[in-house]
Amino acid sequence: SRRGSILFGPVSLEDREEPSASMTALGRAGGIVDGIEGTIGNTPLIRLRSLSAATGCEILAKAEFLNGAGGSPKDRVALSMIEAAEEQGLLSPGRGDCIYEGTVGSTGISLAVLARARGYHAHICMPDDMAHEKSDLLHHLGATVERVPVAPITDPAHFVNLARARAQQHTAAADTPSRGFFADQFESRANYTAHMKTTGPEIVAQTDGRLDAFVAGAGTGGTIAGVAKHLKEAAGLAGLRVVLADPQGSGLYNKVRHGVMYSATEREGTRRRTQVDTMVEGIGINRITENFEAGRGLIDDAVRVTDEQACRMARWLVEHDGVFIGSSSAVNCVAAVVTALKMPPGSRVVTILCDSGTRHLSKFWKHIAAMGLEDDTQEQHEDLLALLG
Ligand code: PMP
Repeated sequence: SRRGSILFGPVSLEDREEPSASMTALGRAGGIVDGIEGTIGNTPLIRLRSLSAATGCEILAKAEFLNGAGGSPKDRVALSMIEAAEEQGLLSPGRGDCIYEGTVGSTGISLAVLARARGYHAHICMPDDMAHEKSDLLHHLGATVERVPVAPITDPAHFVNLARARAQQHTAAADTPSRGFFADQFESRANYTAHMKTTGPEIVAQTDGRLDAFVAGAGTGGTIAGVAKHLKEAAGLAGLRVVLADPQGSGLYNKVRHGVMYSATEREGTRRRTQVDTMVEGIGINRITENFEAGRGLIDDAVRVTDEQACRMARWLVEHDGVFIGSSSAVNCVAAVVTALKMPPGSRVVTILCDSGTRHLSKFWKHIAAMGLEDDTQEQHEDLLALLG
C-alpha cells in the first residue's frame, strides 16, 4: 500500500506481513521498535570498497558495531542468554536478581544495558589489562565492576571463575528469593545459537546466499561456530570456506591448522601481562571453549595476524573507507584480505566488524598514533600488500 511504502521505503506492508523463512527474530527494519532490545540485529553488510578493489574480490563486512544496546555482536548473545535464563526461571524481574559475567568487556556492556532495561543488576568481572573505555562505560551503566589481575584459567581468581563464584555466593547468601545468575558466555549454548539463528540467516538474506568465504576471530568462538553452522548446514553452503582470524599469541591457529592447542607464547601457570600475548582485545584464546567446540569440523583454515598488521589495517580503513574500528575487527579484515588473495577473483568474502574504534582510543588507537601511522599516510599506505607485510 501507499502508506506502507511511505513508512517502510520500497518494501510494501504486504511484503512484510509474510517474512521469508530466512528472516530472523530480531528486527529493526523500520518504524518503531519496542525498547532497546529492538535495536539489536539486522545490521548492514558493508562493501569495503578499498579492500575489494585491492584484492579483486568482494569484501563484505557485517557492521556489528551498529547493534544498538552495547555496540557489538555481544548484544545478540546477551539477549539470547537472558531470554534463555528467564524461560528457565533463573532470572525474574523485580526479585533483586543480578547477572554475573566474566568478560573482556563487550559482553559485559551488552549485559549491563539489557539488565537495566529488564530490571536486573549486573556484576562484571574483567581482566585489568583491557582498555578503560569499557570499564568506564560499565560504571556509567550502573554495573558493579571488578577488574582483576590477569591469571590462568586454572586459578580461582581468573575473571571467569570469579564471576561464577560471585553468582553462587549471591544465591547462597540471599535470604530472599533473589538469585545470582552466571551468564557464562564461554560455555553457554545460548551464545552460538544466537549467531546461528540471527547473524547467519541475516548474512544469507543479505547476500542471497552467494558467498564464498566467511572469516572471523574467536573469543568465546560463538560467532564463528554459530555462523558457520548456519551457513554450512541449514543454508546448505557446503563449499563455503570458513576461516579463523587469530591474533598473535593465541593458540587457536595451531588448533585449526595442526589439531594441537599450543602457542609460541603459551606459559600456562605463570603470570602473564595479558591473557593472550597480543594488544588485540576480544579475540584469541588459549583454551577450547564449548562454543568453539560447537564449530568442530566447520572451520577450514586459520590466518595468524600480527599486532602490527592489525594496526596498519585499522589505519588503512580510516584513511580509505572512513571506517573507524577496534582491534578485533582489524584482525578480521587482515584475515579477510589474506583469504581473498587465495581465492579466484570475484569471490565474495564476508567478515565481521565487531566494535567501534571509540572503545579502543586509550590503547589500540594510541598505539597506532605512536607507530607514526597517522602521519604522512599517503606514502605509507599506498600498497595493501605492503601493509600486510
Ligand atoms: N571482538 C570483540 C571486541 C569481542 O569482545 C569479542 C568477544 N569476546 C569478539 C570479537 C569475539 O567474538 P566471539 O566471542 O563470538 O568469538
